[in-house]
Amino acid sequence: MSTRQLFHGHVLKAAVFVTVTASLVIAQTRITVPDNKYSPAQDVELGQQAAKEVEQQLPLLRDDGIASFVDRIGRHLVQVTPPELQHREFQYSFKVINVREINAFALPGGPMYINRGMIQAAAVEGEVAGVMAHELSHVILRHGTAGATKEQPFAIGAIAGAIAGAIIGGNLGQVVAQGTQFGLGTYFLRYSREYEKQADLLGVQLMARAGYDPLDLMHMFQTIEKQGGGGGPQFLSDHPNPGNREAYIKQETSHLRIEGQAGDSHEFARVQDRLRSMAPAPTTEQATRHGKPTPTRSGQPAPDVRNIGTRVAPPSSRYKNYTEGNLFRISVPDNWKEVAASSSVKFVPDGAYGEVHGHTVFTHGVELGFTRNEIHSLEEATQEFIDSLSQSNRSLRATGGLQNTKLSGRNGFMAILTNVSEVTGRGERVTIFTTLLRDNNLFYCIAVAPQDEYQAYQRSFQRTAQSIRLTD
Ligand SMILES: [Zn+2]
Repeated sequence: MSTRQLFHGHVLKAAVFVTVTASLVIAQTRITVPDNKYSPAQDVELGQQAAKEVEQQLPLLRDDGIASFVDRIGRHLVQVTPPELQHREFQYSFKVINVREINAFALPGGPMYINRGMIQAAAVEGEVAGVMAHELSHVILRHGTAGATKEQPFAIGAIAGAIAGAIIGGNLGQVVAQGTQFGLGTYFLRYSREYEKQADLLGVQLMARAGYDPLDLMHMFQTIEKQGGGGGPQFLSDHPNPGNREAYIKQETSHLRIEGQAGDSHEFARVQDRLRSMAPAPTTEQATRHGKPTPTRSGQPAPDVRNIGTRVAPPSSRYKNYTEGNLFRISVPDNWKEVAASSSVKFVPDGAYGEVHGHTVFTHGVELGFTRNEIHSLEEATQEFIDSLSQSNRSLRATGGLQNTKLSGRNGFMAILTNVSEVTGRGERVTIFTTLLRDNNLFYCIAVAPQDEYQAYQRSFQRTAQSIRLTD
């Protein structure tokens, strides 16, 4: 069972907080800044701490020509930010990470990172500027902390670790996020469709003010989408299409006057030549691989990923309790080990967890976590969640409909599915439990065991599911 691409494929309708101004002079969409319980100074503190962790783990590209190229674009975009949206506290920086994936991200309060792969995939400077204008809009509108505003206030250090953990991902991400609040990284990095539309609209407004053709943002999105591959690029997972992205970007652009002409095609060509002359960029996974088994929050060593597919011991009849952040408590067989990621946690026996083709898989055990659910009912959200799992598990088949159940005393659903393990090629049985969290996000528990061992696991799965106590 592979659950890497949980966040893909969600097609949610967005309630968009945009209003059209009545002004005859400027017909551009006016953006309403979302409520935020954090102060701009806290955005800065949080972003700086997360940036420190990110820069310790990811390889920055140290090349003066390329650094000054992204710095020039970034400063220019900041300069044309409308005064009412400016924050004097913010400390902007624009850096390039020497990795291959087409991605970029910005942290609260100003630090922005552009992957080398993003620059190499761009056809003109305006496309790089488009992605940077979109990222900058998330920073200016303070979407990272606004999205977390509905959560309880957390210690800044814990949030910074969780953000960095979610960016870096994989095993290293677990180390960085270690000891931090479960699930926080997701709130800061995966924006809602509502915020996406805001960042697109403000992004194209900034581009026009800076002298770029706003349609270059649309062209870059098209390039990113084409890169698809397995489950789609990370950028689109973090910045989901709110629906009709191209149509509303074109519409907004038609109301905008492009001020002057930005973009230096000679410098862009020099940057591209320089990047082509360097050794190819590694993938993020290659750049962060460190080979050691990672410790988990409980202090036990994580299961050794190289053992996957070897003999797996049956579930112990002794149970051990875990508390996952402010989200839930659970009791699991004491020979299962905890593997925590930014928005999920697995409990798996030795030999049942590993990496296949660059993504994590497990053959025995449970995974619990949550995914964003904006306005859907539990039934729709559950169905959508199962559909998203089918994208990364092509052999996943439902054996019946959704059954009503209770999870932690709340109304829930249970679904039984079959799959073919990518590791062993054998049939496996997958049981999914879902319910809604208080913030309406979907909480899930996935239990997996090979079809022919299921009998030995059924009781443990039942007892584990019954032990779940949501504490949100
Ligand atoms: Zn975005």
